Parts: sequence; C-alpha cells; structure tokens
Amino acid sequence: MADSVRGPEDKAQQIYDLLLAEYGEPVWQPRRSGFEQLIQTILSANTNDRNSGRAFETLRQRFNDDWDAVRTAPLSEIKDAIRVAGMYNQKAPHIVETLEMLHREEGFYSLDHVQGMEPEAAQTYLQSFPGVGHKTASIVLLFSYGMAAFPVDTHIQRQSQRLGISGPRASAEKIKTIWEEALPPETYFTLHVNLISHGRGVCRARVPRCGHCVLRNSCHYVARTGAWSETNG
Ligand code: SF4
Repeated sequence: MADSVRGPEDKAQQIYDLLLAEYGEPVWQPRRSGFEQLIQTILSANTNDRNSGRAFETLRQRFNDDWDAVRTAPLSEIKDAIRVAGMYNQKAPHIVETLEMLHREEGFYSLDHVQGMEPEAAQTYLQSFPGVGHKTASIVLLFSYGMAAFPVDTHIQRQSQRLGISGPRASAEKIKTIWEEALPPETYFTLHVNLISHGRGVCRARVPRCGHCVLRNSCHYVARTGAWSETNG
C-alpha cells in the first residue's frame, strides 16, 4: 500500500513522525562556529568526515589558528596541510578566496553576523562565497546557528525521490524547497539527522532494505517496484 495520506504536508509530517519514532530526537548543539563549519564543509566535498576532520585539524595546527596566515600563505602550503581531504587543488583556492572575502568585506573571520539576517538572506549571502552551494550554506545555518535551513545531501535527495516527496529526477535544491515548504523550521534538524541515519542504514543507495523500512507504506519506490515483497537483508 502506498500513500494513505493526502497532501505533501501530510506525507512529509508522516515521514517525520515515523523517523522520529524509529531514531528518536537528536540533541542540537552547535559543534563549530559558522566560520569553522564553512571551512570544514569546503574540505568535506567528496571525502568522508574522518578525512575532512583530519585536514581541518592539520590546517589549524600548521598555522596556529591564525587565519590571516592561512590567507597569505603560499597555496602549496595550504594544499599540503589539507592533502588528506583530497581535491586539494580546488579546495585550497576556495579556502583562500573565502578568507579573502571575509577579510575584505567584514574585516574579521566569522560568520556570526548571519544570525541577524532572515534565513533566506543568510542563505543567499553564504552562497555568494566561492564554491558554496545550497547544501553547504544550509549546513552552516542549521548546524552552527539553528536557523531555518534544510540541507539536502545525496542521502536525502535519494530518499525524497524514492518516497515520492519529489519527482524521481528532482534536484537537491528543488527538494530542499519542498521540505521547507511542507514542514515547520523546528523539524528541520531532527528530520535531517534522521534521514541521514535512514539513508545510511536502510534506504541505501544500491540496495534499499525496504522489508526493514518504517516508511514503506508511503513509498513510491515500493509501489512501483514491489520491493517490499523482496528479501532485503
Ligand atoms: S521503502 Fe525502500 S525505497 Fe522506500 S524509503 Fe524505505 S528503504 Fe527507501
């Protein structure tokens, strides 16, 4: 059986409730400043959390937390410090351009001033930084400041498409808008964290474990493929 609920808001709320019952409510705590989160997120592209975290710590230690020194250092030194994160030929210039922009426009290395902006304006402002897309901007706003932004990564994009929250080929940015319009901001953090857990453990990219999934009754993928009746270990 698929979609026993009515509109997109009902379906989104049902998914939120089922995931909350399954995974609980994560505790929001600002883990890093917005600035640190931004640098960390630049480093995290196409690598895992462990490697991006190691690159970030190496960068900080190598330059003694002196971001002016990072901004003015030879690119080769920055590349060397972040090598473990991969793609250092792109990531190092992005970090320097970010520092240049903050230095030029704000005179300090912080993003705390976004807290005084409307979420939409803050999102646009952060996306004006080099290499920063909607996902990175939303992560900074949600994780560092608890602001109303819903980050959509590959796990959330895949599940939203399968569940029928969006069309099967919808972009991550489109999916972000759909969730944000369907649910209130106070749900974003819990929904994001729980969808990531679900995407890693159950609604996996290659072989979703539909037989173990609490969302199967409202999933378009199951209705289309009959995956529920298959063996999904
Ligand atoms: S039923 Fe299957 S495809 Fe649908 S959300 Fe669950 S694991 Fe993913």
